Amino acid sequence: MSSNANASPQTAREYLRVSRDKSGRERSPDEQHADHVVVGAERGWALGAAYRDIGSASKYAVKARAGFDQLVADLETDCFGAELLILWEGSRGSRRTNEWVRLIELCEDRHVRIFIFTYERVFDPANPYDRADLLELAIKSELASAETSKRTRRAAAATAAAGRPAGRCPYGYRRRYDPVTRKFEAQEEEPQEAAVVRELFSRLHAGHSLRSIAMDFEERGIRTRSGRFFSSQHLRSLALMPAYAGIRVHDPGRESGHTLSPDAKFTDAVWPALVDRLVFLAVKRRLTDPARVTTRPGRGVHLLSMIGLCDPCGGPLAAVRMREGQEYRCHRKSCVRIGYAELNTFVEAAVVAYISRPENLAWLTARDDDEELLAARRQVAEIRSELDDLADQVGAGRLSASLAARAEPGIRARLNAAEAREAELATPAPLRDLIGADMDPVERWQNAPMSARREVVKLLFSPELIGQLRVLRSPTRGHHCPVSERVRWDRKGQ
Ligand SMILES: [Zn+2]
Repeated sequence: MSSNANASPQTAREYLRVSRDKSGRERSPDEQHADHVVVGAERGWALGAAYRDIGSASKYAVKARAGFDQLVADLETDCFGAELLILWEGSRGSRRTNEWVRLIELCEDRHVRIFIFTYERVFDPANPYDRADLLELAIKSELASAETSKRTRRAAAATAAAGRPAGRCPYGYRRRYDPVTRKFEAQEEEPQEAAVVRELFSRLHAGHSLRSIAMDFEERGIRTRSGRFFSSQHLRSLALMPAYAGIRVHDPGRESGHTLSPDAKFTDAVWPALVDRLVFLAVKRRLTDPARVTTRPGRGVHLLSMIGLCDPCGGPLAAVRMREGQEYRCHRKSCVRIGYAELNTFVEAAVVAYISRPENLAWLTARDDDEELLAARRQVAEIRSELDDLADQVGAGRLSASLAARAEPGIRARLNAAEAREAELATPAPLRDLIGADMDPVERWQNAPMSARREVVKLLFSPELIGQLRVLRSPTRGHHCPVSERVRWDRKGQ
């Protein structure tokens, strides 16, 4: 395939994003564009509008990927409007192999060829050999990014595979070294810090908000190693550290912070876990649940807002302040209105009645080690090892990179599903804390902060348990009607 075969001028569009060349030097989008202008002039290409991303190719950096998403969307909707796509460095078209495969397929469908500057070569995705090369590039780049500085990376990987610690010693632990050789001996609990970590997890698990924990820690004078108070953000980042569950993460592809790359590897750590792995997963799920981020402000103030439902329209209830006090009202269309204190009292009575019945508690605690959960955990472990195998086989040259690129997204999707299932089954978290051995659950409920109570209500008022709380229209307009006659429980199988 010759890139000069076509005599008429071709239109080319660039996708620009910060990249590093082989020497590790960073090349900014503007510098890349300058390179493209030169090569475009040489080859007689007219450069159309460029797609540009400021940040990383990481799959989690949503805002940093607007340009890439636009590129894919334009290809999908036939709005790309050029014969050539220019990438400065091919391997980083996308760091996610499956996205890269998708991009190649789209280009093939739309008869768009791909020019890669650092290779000085046009690839035609419709040509099976070019296509194989493109797929190969994606895999090689994944390997390359894990080997940026080979020796240190290899050492880090070996350390990780053995579950030994690296980097800063996390809060909650201390490291012991041989006094003579200075060789690492062990990472062990730092008792005072470890107690703080444990408390953090158990409270998050019970539904306490990060903010209420941070405020409480501050009141009690609990400080970070550098002598500051813990912010909510800091506590959140601690709660997302797999180290506390005794999991060693090796993730050379990680950009920054706690967001892991898809290539992260997990091994059992040599240090002791501070929290149960299931607790860790449940907390992580809660903190990273996208639904939480979009929850309306004011959450955690009213027991039932956004949890109770309007029966006529199915919309959520919200607390509204009135001159004569507060009320809950259908948030969508004001179909229903009901006394605030009355409904709260009614609901609290329902919760207390539920949790004071031993058979309910027995059922909820019994879930903890049931067969389904054990099976889900086994499945997660199996799929993880499948992924590891795949990487090993490519590394050892036993599996072609392009085959691996095709297999990987599927395995990844199965892993996500299995992990979600595992977390799901392990979840009755807010309740488990209420059910602790040494205190009466009703007493615990009464002592729990509003954020924790809301978690309990959310869980209990599910269609599988007490049922969804739906508020009916008042049968007699203007006349007072007792709450008990205006509430319907929407239960599964009813
Ligand atoms: Zn309504």
